[in-house]
Amino acid sequence: MADIAFVQHEITARVPELTNPTSIIEVPLTIRIDPLSGRSSRLITGTKLAPTERPDLSALIAEPPFCPFCESKIEMATGIFDAAITDEGRIRRGASAIVPNVMAYSEFSSVGLYDTTRHFVDLDELTAERVEDLMNGFVAYTKGVHALRPMWSSVNANYLPPSGSSLVHPHAQSAHDDFGTSTQRRLVQLSNEWSGESYWSDLIEAEEGGPRWIGQSGRVSVLTPWAPLGFHEVWAIVDGCEDITDLTEYDVADLAATMSAVFGTYYELNLTSFNWALYGGGPRRSDKYSLLWRIVSRSNADPMYRSDVTYFEKLHDEAMVDTTPEAVAAAVRDRFTT
Ligand SMILES: [Zn+2]
Repeated sequence: MADIAFVQHEITARVPELTNPTSIIEVPLTIRIDPLSGRSSRLITGTKLAPTERPDLSALIAEPPFCPFCESKIEMATGIFDAAITDEGRIRRGASAIVPNVMAYSEFSSVGLYDTTRHFVDLDELTAERVEDLMNGFVAYTKGVHALRPMWSSVNANYLPPSGSSLVHPHAQSAHDDFGTSTQRRLVQLSNEWSGESYWSDLIEAEEGGPRWIGQSGRVSVLTPWAPLGFHEVWAIVDGCEDITDLTEYDVADLAATMSAVFGTYYELNLTSFNWALYGGGPRRSDKYSLLWRIVSRSNADPMYRSDVTYFEKLHDEAMVDTTPEAVAAAVRDRFTT
């Protein structure tokens, strides 16, 4: 086992007091270094950016005259997959469905609906069963694509407009091509360069039972990252699983239960929008990489609410968060029952 260095730097800023600008107060600031990538994150104190109440979503989630993902329209408004990938046409598991993506983000891409029978499914209703159906569908589609040739695959989600989603009906998307994405390639490359046997096994061993640890179910270990990329970030590592196509039905069930627990926690924290990604390990298989699922919350679906992405995140590759990973872990741990 190689040691994981959890490095942080404490800074003290001297700033005028908000309500009394002639008074100078000292405010602590922590800069944490990600042990794998060296990327830094700032944990700020004082300003709480988190919402104190849930915004009213009723206008946003009202059923529109036409939604291609609702059950009454989906057969008419979406296509079917090439028979070379799957003979299922549209891949349906329970109330979920995976259909071809009309947006060409990748050589092969799909859109998955958690539930076609409901136009909107709020965070507390994204049950483990709904998520499991969705993820089983994505695994089936990914296996079909990889039967053509091995490639980079990821499954990803936007939820509500602040996260970049153009359609309200809750969905996720998969992408498959020979190039992957910047973050995906970097994760695999850094994993391969790790001096120990597996960074991910070493991380789990170092974090298990600690303040960022949430729990473990089968091969799925759940924790918050030392140096987050975004707000309320949670990770699930499928230890020893190199690619999406290697997920067993047990892995999917454990991952789905985890995802549902995080969605429920976000609901309790008055959050309404998120992005998540599940990064496949790419066409050159490596047992030094383990599948990573990562979620961050996004700004609330509230008119004129500030973006959570400032120049720090967009132009400096540096997250600035006001809730510590340890506090996020404590919040999710309460709902993580497995
Ligand atoms: Zn709909």
